[in-house]
Amino acid sequence: MSYSAPIGDIAHTLRAIAGLNDLIDQDLAGDLDDDVVDAILEEAGKFASEQVAPLNQPGDVAGTKFENGSVAMPAGFKEAYLDWVEAGWGGLAGPEEFGGQGLPLTLAMAVSEIWNAACVSFSENPMLTTGVVDALALHGNDSLKATYLPKLVSGEWSGTMQLTESHAGSDLRFLKTKAEPQGDGSYNLSGTKIFITFGEHDMVENIVHMVLARIPGAPPGTKGISLFLVPKFLVGEDGSLGERNDVHCISTEHKLGIHASPTCVMQMGDNGGATGWLVGEENRGLNCMFTMMNRARLGVGIQGVGIAERAFQQALAYAQERKQGAVAETEKGDMVEIIRHPDVQRMLLDMKAKTAVARTLCYVTAKALDVAERSQDEAERARALAYAGLLTPVAKAYSTDLSVEVASQGIQVHGGMGYIEETGAAQHLRDARITPIYEGTNGIQAIDLVSRKLPMEGGEVVRGHIAELKEIVAGVRGSNEPSFGETADRLEDAISALEEASDWLLRTMSGNPDAALVGACAYLRLFGIASGGAFLAKGALAEQRDDNGNGRTFTVLARHFADQLSVEAPGLARAVSSGADGVLSQGESLLRAS
Ligand SMILES: Cc1cc2nc3c(=O)[nH]c(=O)nc-3n(C[C@H](O)[C@H](O)[C@H](O)COP(=O)(O)OP(=O)(O)OC[C@H]3O[C@@H](n4cnc5c(N)ncnc54)[C@H](O)[C@@H]3O)c2cc1C
Repeated sequence: MSYSAPIGDIAHTLRAIAGLNDLIDQDLAGDLDDDVVDAILEEAGKFASEQVAPLNQPGDVAGTKFENGSVAMPAGFKEAYLDWVEAGWGGLAGPEEFGGQGLPLTLAMAVSEIWNAACVSFSENPMLTTGVVDALALHGNDSLKATYLPKLVSGEWSGTMQLTESHAGSDLRFLKTKAEPQGDGSYNLSGTKIFITFGEHDMVENIVHMVLARIPGAPPGTKGISLFLVPKFLVGEDGSLGERNDVHCISTEHKLGIHASPTCVMQMGDNGGATGWLVGEENRGLNCMFTMMNRARLGVGIQGVGIAERAFQQALAYAQERKQGAVAETEKGDMVEIIRHPDVQRMLLDMKAKTAVARTLCYVTAKALDVAERSQDEAERARALAYAGLLTPVAKAYSTDLSVEVASQGIQVHGGMGYIEETGAAQHLRDARITPIYEGTNGIQAIDLVSRKLPMEGGEVVRGHIAELKEIVAGVRGSNEPSFGETADRLEDAISALEEASDWLLRTMSGNPDAALVGACAYLRLFGIASGGAFLAKGALAEQRDDNGNGRTFTVLARHFADQLSVEAPGLARAVSSGADGVLSQGESLLRAS
């Protein structure tokens, strides 16, 4: 199944909803201008369609092969990756000082959506490498940066993030990997990490692992965790590769999806220990990780957008070809393409609207992170950082939940053929299913939203956000545009529901946190619906103002989302504020007795 990047939708979301052009106008985007943005999106789309998308299904079928400590990628991956590096895609948003192009994250996320849609397994590797670049650029010393960043930024070397151990997943407090100082500035690491994405593979000469570990004598819990850089091959002063380090893949996992992304068990210490170097200060490893968490979580949200877009395109193509007759007794006639049936139209519009909503949430969050990093105005930077903090768990969790829903609907559109692997629709669901789990499960995202982000500044950050959503909807109402139908009414209901649930949670969090946490996931979904629905409407208003001849895609989608999907919002608000009693008073005893 082919993939064609939806450049028009992406560009409109970047400009009219996320506000990429504010960055350009305020000189916060380097040499970027409209033409360069268009050229980058076009070129990425071309590369993705021609070289990456064709790998998706064969890569899923072949999977990676683990043998004698090495991992062989499926056919074609290495060649495509080397071409990708050669074309300069690795350094798009990387620091200019180390060979990157320093372009805004907002644009980089749009391009990342394109890679993920083409093949999510292929895109895992650059995503993890970007995480290592961010960690090193922010917290590494000059020597580590000079040695490792240029090749990581270009993509010639790849990176991993090694946090998880068998007993330490969502809660890293009890991780056991040990790092002993060797007296020469380096550390000796030993321990086992599980589930490490691209921990080993054959596409690059060196792999740079970022490992969380404990130094002997460190305080217990999160205050005793440090971050280390551990290369697969040690690097000489002249940059040449030296001795093989004692960090080895000892097996790979067999899993539901992303078969072309190796998920590795990594062992350090079987041959004397792995040599590593401290990144940031001792015992501040989790803080280092937290500073990059917004970006990493957003990266997973974008994976959700990419998979959803691919699933939609595949379902649309199938619905335009597959023929079935009408089943309603009132309808007669010949067989028609299933896309002519109202329920199939509804499913396809659901899929496109959900994908568009997830895209808005991710791009708006990326823009806030850009402002937080690039603005000259300190107060504006602080405001943007708080806003990005508020939106990040929603962009990660709601977008990935939507990707699973969209991929599942994609199977439904195919009928029985969707359940048959050969069709390719099932792969999207299998691939999507990891996204609500890793980089902090969506349950953990909801807890973060309710317990840390919502109470920021006494609730003022969320109130400011709600005020902005209301302003957009006032614009919809004021436009008197008949094609909006009841969009304004439905979105007003959703935003009121969000306001009501936010107030209830702010009151409840301090006195009865368990009750608040029962409603956390429903609240996150409600937040995503109200925000994404309004953001889509913002895109629709801009589309009508510009009347750029591209039709009314965003108006149709905003209306569909408001009519069919945002109507869930008042029910979710009720689940937040009155759903806890049953769970807390009777649920636990029932579960324990079961
Ligand atoms: C394919 C794949 C790739 C991965 N890649 C990497 C990688 O590259 N690097 C890396 O370090 N890790 C990686 N991981 C690990 C991943 O990040 C963890 O699986 C994830 O964080 C969840 O941890 P866990 O599996 O231990 O689940 P658990 O923490 O055991 O969670 C199980 C369930 O309990 C819930 N739960 C746990 N604690 C709480 C709480 N306090 N309150 C409410 N609910 C809670 C969770 O939400 C979840 O539903 C990967 C995992 C997979 C499957």
